[in-house]
Amino acid sequence: MTSFKDLSIPSDALENLTSLGYQHPTPIQEKAIPQILEQKDLIAQAKTGSGKTLAFALPLILKLKDNEHFPQALIIVPTRELCEQIAGQCKELARYKPDVKVITLYGGTSLTQQVTSLEKGADIIVGTPGRLLDHFSRETIHLGEIKTLILDEADRMLDMGFADDILKIVSNLPKQRQSLLFSATYPENIDKLTKIILKNPIEIKIENQEKKVAIEEQVYRVDNKDKALIATLQHYQPSLALVFCNTKVKTTEVSEMLHEKGFDVATLNGDLEQYERQEMLLQFANGSLPILIATDLAARGLDIEAIDIVINYDTPMKAEDYTHRIGRTGRADKSGLAVTLCDEYGLKKLSEIKPNLQSKDINTLTPNKNFYLQGSVATLCIDGGKKKKIRAGDILGTLCKDIGIDNKHIGKINIFDKNSYVAIDKSVIKKAYNGLKSGKIKNKNVRIWWLD
Ligand code: ADP
Ligand code: MG
Repeated sequence: MTSFKDLSIPSDALENLTSLGYQHPTPIQEKAIPQILEQKDLIAQAKTGSGKTLAFALPLILKLKDNEHFPQALIIVPTRELCEQIAGQCKELARYKPDVKVITLYGGTSLTQQVTSLEKGADIIVGTPGRLLDHFSRETIHLGEIKTLILDEADRMLDMGFADDILKIVSNLPKQRQSLLFSATYPENIDKLTKIILKNPIEIKIENQEKKVAIEEQVYRVDNKDKALIATLQHYQPSLALVFCNTKVKTTEVSEMLHEKGFDVATLNGDLEQYERQEMLLQFANGSLPILIATDLAARGLDIEAIDIVINYDTPMKAEDYTHRIGRTGRADKSGLAVTLCDEYGLKKLSEIKPNLQSKDINTLTPNKNFYLQGSVATLCIDGGKKKKIRAGDILGTLCKDIGIDNKHIGKINIFDKNSYVAIDKSVIKKAYNGLKSGKIKNKNVRIWWLD
């Protein structure tokens, strides 16, 4: 195993690392630190929790020059929490050096106080794009000596619409500098940033080493697919089920059929508008509509962790589709189950694409006729999101403190640009709805409706 010593870290820094409890570098640290010390520009991608902060902060601190009077490093991050977290880690890592100053600059706090601390001198600045621009336009910040620029959580900053702000800030930095971009994912639109900001960057990507989990595959011979689908649901009694059909028309038919029988169903197909698609997926993922009926195309890229069964209502046409479909279950170390319902034609089709699967008669299942898969929560929609600076904590605060809803009755909260969604236990949904309707979130009146 590699140690920090192998990465040519000087002994005083090594001792500090040990005292902080860091024994061995994580994979991203092992790859990124030597490149950063070599002065290379970098695009580094590794999943959340992989130790990216130390990967950039440690070499940064090693390279700090003593007795400089202006900031040498600028770290741009999406949120104030992240500012604090990163500044804290920088301070820890710099403990062994005399007098390294780290300053955070983010909105919602006094500008004048920040100006005072800037005037006292800073080595490292950690800030959010908006507040950095504020200081820049007021000329309260001097970025002319910046040697290293770091964009952390670049994917999230793009999501939050910070690209232009970032470009404005960067256009004021010295051309002679090192630039490092860290991200958990690598979205396509990131190229706009990387082309302008980075010079011949080295790309480092740490693949997610997810454990392969066993997906149990079952094939049933059936006469009536509608009845077989219900029998499958009532036998396995999943919490979240994904059902595949081959055509858009079929997804709608199957949804209506299940809905009439009393199941809570979402439908995902290519006829939906983007926002409808988003709302369908959200209601499925938060458990309001625990069955999702989809076509192959619509379900592409779907990454929902807790799907415990995938059911092929229609036999897929290609082996590749079969693999994609069943891969939606058994994610994140959970085991998964895939059931294919085949009539005579389906059996023939399946034997062509998956010759080794054995089939059983559907009548070998023992369905519980009283089981109906229904959501225990419903989804409220609020007409305000990121653009109005609404955060999950604001919604939670209003629901718990102002309206008096028990935390345990509040499920997933999703914040988008213009809307936010919150899953609420059906037993208290009226109370939550009425409370939100007459109340305020972050001192703003909001419109409220519920999805069904
Ligand atoms: P990321 O930015 O990739 O999401 P962080 O930098 O926030 O991840 O690190 C996640 C956690 O791992 C933090 O608590 C950090 O202290 C810890 N950590 C980082 N590097 C190491 C290491 N080499 N050994 C042990 N723990 C580490
Ligand atoms: Mg991070």
